Amino acid sequence: MTNYDHEIPYKVLKQYWGYDEFLPWQKEAVECVMTCRDSVTVLPTGGGKSLCFQLPAMCLPGMALVVSPLISLMKDQVDSLKNAGVSAAFINSSMSAAEHYSCLSDIRQNKVKLLYIAPERLVMDSFIELLKTTKLSFIAIDEAHCISMWGHDFRPEYRQLKTLKNVFPDINIHSYTATATELVCQDICKELQLTAPLILTGSFDRPNLIYRIKHRDNVFNQICSVIANHKTESGIIYCIRRTDVDNLCLRLNQKGYNALPYHAGISDQDRKKNQEAFINDRVDVIVATVAFGMGINKSNVRYVIHAGMPKSLEHYQQETGRAGRDGLESECCLFFAYSDFMTWQKIIGDLDSEAGRIASKKLKEMYDFCINTSCRHQAIVSYFGQKLDTQNCGACDICIEEPDLMEDALVIAQKIISCIVRLKNSGREAMSASSFGSAYIGRVLTGSKDQRILQAGHDSLSTWGILASEGKQNIRIWIEQLVMQGYLKRDEEYKTISVSENGWRIIKDNEIPRLTKPLPIHQEQPKTQLTVARGATSSWEGVDNELFNALRVLRKNLAEKQNVPAYIVFSDASLKDMALRRPSNLNEFLHITGVGQKKWESYGDVFVKAIVDYCTTNSIEMDTMPAPIVVKQTKDSSLSAVKFHAFELFSQGCSVEEAAARVCRATSTVFGYLEEYIQQEKITHPAPWVDEKTFLMILEAMDQVGADRLRPIFDLLNGEIPYELIRISRACVQ
Ligand code: ADP
Ligand code: ZN
Repeated sequence: MTNYDHEIPYKVLKQYWGYDEFLPWQKEAVECVMTCRDSVTVLPTGGGKSLCFQLPAMCLPGMALVVSPLISLMKDQVDSLKNAGVSAAFINSSMSAAEHYSCLSDIRQNKVKLLYIAPERLVMDSFIELLKTTKLSFIAIDEAHCISMWGHDFRPEYRQLKTLKNVFPDINIHSYTATATELVCQDICKELQLTAPLILTGSFDRPNLIYRIKHRDNVFNQICSVIANHKTESGIIYCIRRTDVDNLCLRLNQKGYNALPYHAGISDQDRKKNQEAFINDRVDVIVATVAFGMGINKSNVRYVIHAGMPKSLEHYQQETGRAGRDGLESECCLFFAYSDFMTWQKIIGDLDSEAGRIASKKLKEMYDFCINTSCRHQAIVSYFGQKLDTQNCGACDICIEEPDLMEDALVIAQKIISCIVRLKNSGREAMSASSFGSAYIGRVLTGSKDQRILQAGHDSLSTWGILASEGKQNIRIWIEQLVMQGYLKRDEEYKTISVSENGWRIIKDNEIPRLTKPLPIHQEQPKTQLTVARGATSSWEGVDNELFNALRVLRKNLAEKQNVPAYIVFSDASLKDMALRRPSNLNEFLHITGVGQKKWESYGDVFVKAIVDYCTTNSIEMDTMPAPIVVKQTKDSSLSAVKFHAFELFSQGCSVEEAAARVCRATSTVFGYLEEYIQQEKITHPAPWVDEKTFLMILEAMDQVGADRLRPIFDLLNGEIPYELIRISRACVQ
């Protein structure tokens, strides 16, 4: 199909998912499916990949096949789809014979729009026979990096998908992954034998995540202070070793926190139980090794803590990626120490093998990232070969907390450098040993009386002990920072440190390096002081927190009755929108983000009732109708394209209803566009959207009660003039 009605995807988006806009690249990815072009879509976790194949499956005739690696993932997505009124099913080994039979019969009767299966099944002869009698719309391969040895989760069974194109030569294949490397992409295209695939790669930045990376000090206190900022919210804490998981979990429980452990040493059954308790919001905190997380779609994880450093930036990105999938602000705190680096080196083992060398390089890059003093968002995307346009991300410790830089960095760096120079020139040591590693340099600077130092006579150097008050650990970090900023060099083979050409500028030209203050401690910040992440869906301004929490409880109760995770009922983003707009009736409720037809029918009454009860009891204004929620990230972007189309229509005097129909958006959304248009064009009279008489009435009312809030104006006009018109008129005079 090369020609299709472009309005259909928008209608389906609203009808089933309750969204007005696509996230960046979703529209393009959907278009690939609609126009039968094989594709690879690379979007970070939380980028909304599933919708890219779920939505076109609803627009096209026939059934889409979705290949997914994990039973838990399949179940989660199918539950979620069913909740939104989409007919989806899975077939896997966890099903009873009866369930299996009933599913097959649904397929034969063309009742299923999306069928989830494991890769092994897709190559089974009997299954292929069944598929050949069914009309297939397309095949989607989820977690497609599993096919590549270069990905972080290679699965041999994915290799069997090679034959798909031979078996179904006329069916398009679309693949989806969060792994960005070029190599993995190429591998996916090659292994799946894709035909002229379009590769869509989104931004790897996760603007709604706030990254904080601190030296580990008193890690238990550091962790507790993060949790204290997120009382009753969901969070994951990663540790390197199982024993750390067990210890930490125990201490958290002793302190009264509600935490469960997760690692490979725990029985399958208990692991599953703990995971489910977390997914279903029965436990707030999960303490885990990296084994935890794959196959978890929980969208309301509000924080991820690393109690130790992960072994690569890919792992860090993936693990922190589990926070804030709903686009709301979430916090990622990493507490690291040099000893983590050593621990991982031991775990990697043979550093000389090919695999060892790669692992060791990644480890070093991770450590450098930790001690670096430049923007974390920038550093992560640049690791994946991308660049952010902004200077200040507004969402990392470096950019928002003004990194704690040493005021006397110059003097310290000069002392370190002159120590290195003196050591190098110290004649007494055998020539071959006249360069030293950072640990040794640190010991000399702190005035250690180690045997080796005394024997070499380095205690008589003038730089011996000149940084005695600073501690070895800090000196090591400063040396690393000087290496990273190019003032010092490290010999790759012997790990010895020497002064680079740039380093002499510190001595001769007093060039000031950036050195951080020793062991900054994560300070407890009240929630309201958290800087809003630059790209979080929107701020919490205007959101009634108490109502939000009440709605969470309601959601949890409903989810328990239905035996599904809470986030499948509604995402946090939807609850937040409800607590912001406070819809007083079902009509208004339909405007809430994430409320599609089915959810509106299933949950509208109970949620509206809860909102009305709460607002009436507390005398809180309802139907506040703020501007529509801003989409998470902007590309050049699909949102703007629609908006500009609407602007163009306004400039031709088009009515809101007509513009809404033309750009295929809800009228409420288009009223928001119109407000922006009026502000942008500095229009002072709302004709033709508001007639003269109404405008004058609104002006008079504003004169009497002010223009800050809409409700008093609305009330003064006896509720006869819709909010939208008041907003539009107000925009003209502001
Ligand atoms: P991924 O699979 O890429 O990690 P998901 O498919 O789990 O991402 O989607 C992440 C979150 O974004 C989910 O909560 C989903 O409901 C939400 N989402 C997806 N598409 C949109 C959209 N167009 N508008 C708003 N939210 C969306
Ligand atoms: Zn930053």
